[in-house]
This record gives sequence, structure tokens and C-alpha cells, in this order.
Amino acid sequence: MMNIQLTVPSMMERAEKLFKKKQVISRSTKGVDRLTYEEVSKRTRQLSSMLVELGVKRGDRVGTFAWNHHRHLEAYFGIPGIGAVLHTINIRLDPQQIIYVINHAKDKVLLIDECFLPLFEKIHHELTHVEAYIIMSDEPVLSSTSLQPVYHYEQLIEKGNDCYPFIQDLDEQEPAGICYTSATTGKPKGVVYSHRGIYLHCMALGLTDGVGLSEADVAMPVVPMFHVNAWGLPFAAVWFGTTLVMPGPFFTPAILAELIQNEQITIAAGVPTIWLGLLQELENNAYETSSLRALICGGSAAPQSIIQRFEEKFNIPFVHAYGMTETSPLVILSRLKSYQTHQSSDEKFSLKAKQGFIVPGVEMRVIGQQGEVKWNGIEMGELLLKGPWIASEYYEDERTNEAFKDGWLHTGDVVTVDEEGFVKIVDRTKDLIKSGGEWISSVDLENALMAHEAIFEASVIAVPHEKWQERPVACVVVKKEYKNQITKEEIIQFLEPQFAKWWLPDDIIFMEEIPKTTVGKFLKRTLREQVLQHYELKG
Ligand code: AMP
Repeated sequence: MMNIQLTVPSMMERAEKLFKKKQVISRSTKGVDRLTYEEVSKRTRQLSSMLVELGVKRGDRVGTFAWNHHRHLEAYFGIPGIGAVLHTINIRLDPQQIIYVINHAKDKVLLIDECFLPLFEKIHHELTHVEAYIIMSDEPVLSSTSLQPVYHYEQLIEKGNDCYPFIQDLDEQEPAGICYTSATTGKPKGVVYSHRGIYLHCMALGLTDGVGLSEADVAMPVVPMFHVNAWGLPFAAVWFGTTLVMPGPFFTPAILAELIQNEQITIAAGVPTIWLGLLQELENNAYETSSLRALICGGSAAPQSIIQRFEEKFNIPFVHAYGMTETSPLVILSRLKSYQTHQSSDEKFSLKAKQGFIVPGVEMRVIGQQGEVKWNGIEMGELLLKGPWIASEYYEDERTNEAFKDGWLHTGDVVTVDEEGFVKIVDRTKDLIKSGGEWISSVDLENALMAHEAIFEASVIAVPHEKWQERPVACVVVKKEYKNQITKEEIIQFLEPQFAKWWLPDDIIFMEEIPKTTVGKFLKRTLREQVLQHYELKG
């Protein structure tokens, strides 16, 4: 067979030949921009040419600090299009971490949304390698800024060449992107994505039993473009000619519901907290959502109760998926097998609440205390992964040795696997509650709690215990309409029939809000500190 290099620019080249008329619909601070792929590809080439003009060379890193919109999409292709490396920076990191990742990646140029100018004016003197700032703005003229040298994105690319040729002699193993994990402890760790990895991962997104993304879809990545490349959807959508809808800055559940209704979205992707917000919006106000054929949900465990409400109340198919920054991210996806669709609704929803089975192209092993675990849905072990879109190291980081061993990525996720190969994430290794030599899954307790009609969110953590080593404590946020209407005892009574007695939380703490990570997951480290403080205060 021909040894053809699998590269990112070839995806855009396909779109500009075949899907000129298809659209990228992008919500901005002013309204909604509608660009064709023909326009987007010309603008991408203009950007590529101007980056070269600014001195960006093959292998250089170019950072983006932005919401999901069409200019960010142009950067997704314009940067790798000249052999440079797209560094998508998480806008919710704290300033010290932002400085760290920009300096660690040695970003040479930064593309920044205008709303973040004040932040960069504060930190720019600490950025060691940045030579130019390009500001992505919806305004015709830039507001005055102390950043230097600074360019207005539109004015800059206007001078560019819209036929500029993408780099032709790329090796598929060259880096196309870099993304830092949203670390809950320690410094963020960088994962480099090769052209080949992105290309093959996109193929998996297109599989019918994968995400099944196609030309006929209208896809809305709500997951940020700085969180594992919005799960690869922008790359795949361009390649396949899918209509793309970008939700833009500062969106709310109502904005998402309107976009779904007005743009006839068929597929949308985001973390459970996003879908929980949308669910409440749909329950309170009427929207037309029948175009949706899949809500893809990953990043943390989707409670069965949410899946059931979407499917039963709104007829919206819900697809649970699992992945990590280190895995591009899609590796496990929950779709019922053909002979499982006739099961009772309870059985079906409990299967859908599992993360699912491994996609073609990726291999897994699950290692427990006695070696490889049995596929019986009971034995627990750590999930190990291997495949062409799984990272093999962290970028210039000694923590590589902790996670990458013997050719496998050690995920740090504890799972069970049932007879059908459905993987269920029990917990992060460090979040499992070790009580009297046995393990309690915080995720299982959280899911059960969130199925209670009065509870909006719940997070369960381990607190130290003299006799049992650790015991579970549940932190819950009660829905507004149930405030002061529900007691700890009632919540425990609700859990009792579902769990062994020793699994039941020792305490329920009512909270206004559960602290979250920058990508919307429960921040258990901070929660643990808050709970310990709460007990100290109570004496
Ligand atoms: P990140 O690299 O920020 O995407 O985080 C990856 C981690 O998120 C994984 O190691 C899991 O612990 C967790 N995760 C991702 N998807 C799921 C899911 N569907 N259910 C439970 N945990 C998940």
C-alpha cells in the first residue's frame, strides 16, 4: 500500500474542494456569524501566511486563549497548516498556571480573545518566549492595550494570501497540537498530539458505532476548544463537511437550547454539568429539540437519572463516553449492542450509565491486585490503554514515568468490566473511599443521590476515620424549590434500599455550591478541605 502521511491540513483541503457551501455558524458578542467552508478555508490560509510573516516556523508553538468560535477554528488549521503546533490554553486556569503552560510550551505567538486582554496586560512581562499577540475581536478596531507588538486578527489576515499553500512535506508523526491536562494537583502536564493521532482519532469519531459524525450532521461542540481539542470534533467536522455550530463566549443553558432549536443541531457534546443545566432549562421552558440525535457526554460520570430524563421526557438520545487529555480523548463509548435494545428500560439505562466499550483501534487491560481482572462487573482494577491516538509521554515532564509504563498508559481510573465488555468507572484511584479494607465508590453514591428529586448536585468524599480508616461524607446542593424541605435522615433513607449498610454516608452536608475544576468536574481536593474545615468549626 502507499505510504501516505496522515495530516491535518489534508482535512481542510478536502473541505474546500467538496463542502464549499457548508457552513460554520458562530455565535459572537454581536450576534451570529455565518461563514461557508470556502470562506473559512481562505481565512485559514490567510492566517497561515501571516503567521509565517510574523516569523513562526515549523515546530514552533502558537497558543490560543479563546472561546469556541470560527476564528479559533481557523487557528486549529492555520497553525498546523504551516507545520507549527497549536497550543490550546485553558482560559479557566489560574494566572500562575497560565504563565506556566505558556512558558513551558515556549509559545511564540498568542491568539487571544479580546475579552481576555486585561489578564494578559497583567501577566505579559512574565511570558518568556512570546513575540507577538494577535487579538481576536468582533470590533473593527482594537481597544487600546499595553501589549506589544499587538495585531487585530481581522486587520492582520486581510493582508494575508488566501491561496497560501499548506506545508506539503509533513511527517505524520510531527506534532500538530499540545494541550495541558486540567490537573487537580501539581502543575498541568502537556500532551502532544501528532498529525497522525488526530487523523486516526477523527476516523473513530466518524464510525457509526463511534460518534457517527457525518456530512448530514449539524454539530455543536459545547466542550471548550481548549479541552482536548473539543474532543476532536472541530477537526472531524471540517474533514467530513459537517455543519459546525460554535456556541461562542459566555453562553447559558438558554442560549444552548435556542441554538439547538434555531440551528437544528443533530449532535452536541459536553460535560455532565452542561447537560444538567440544559435539562433544567428544558424542564422549565418549551423548546423544539427533535433534531437532536445524540447528546455526547463525557469528562465525568453522567448519572443514570440525567440520562433517563433526557431520553424519557424529551426523547433525546444520550451517549455516554469516556476519555482523557492523554487519549485524544475518545476511547470508550456507551452504545447498546443490537441484542440489548430489547431489555427492560431499567436494564438499558443502567447499561447506558456505564461508560461503554472500547472503540476499534484502542486496546485495554484492567489490572487489579491479583493481575488482570475477570470480566464479571464486580472485580475492580486500574484501566490501562494503548493505541495510535494515546499519548506515549508527557511533554518534557518527569511525571511521564508514573503514567506510561511497559507501553501502556496507566489511567489512574479504577473500573469494572462486565461480561459484555462494558466498562464502568468506579472512581479515580485517589477518590475511592477505603473503608475497613473495602472500597466504596464515590461515583456510585453520587449518582444515586443525584437521582433524588430534591437534589441538584452531589459529591461524595472520604474523611479520615479512626476505626475504619476512611468513611464517606456526602455534600449535596438542594434544588431551589426544595430548600429546607428535606432532611439528612430522609436522604439516608432514600439510599438505604440501594446500598449495603456500610456504604451509607456517615454525614450529609448541605452546600450552596460544589467547587468545580476549570472544566466543570467536582474539585474533590478543595471539597475535602472545606469539609474538614466544617468539622473543625463544629468542633
Ligand atoms: P481530562 O483529561 O481533564 O479530560 O480528565 C480525564 C479524566 O476524567 C479521566 O481519567 C476520568 O477520571 C474522568 N472521566 C472522563 N470521562 C468520564 C466518564 N464518562 N465517566 C467518569 N469519569 C470520566
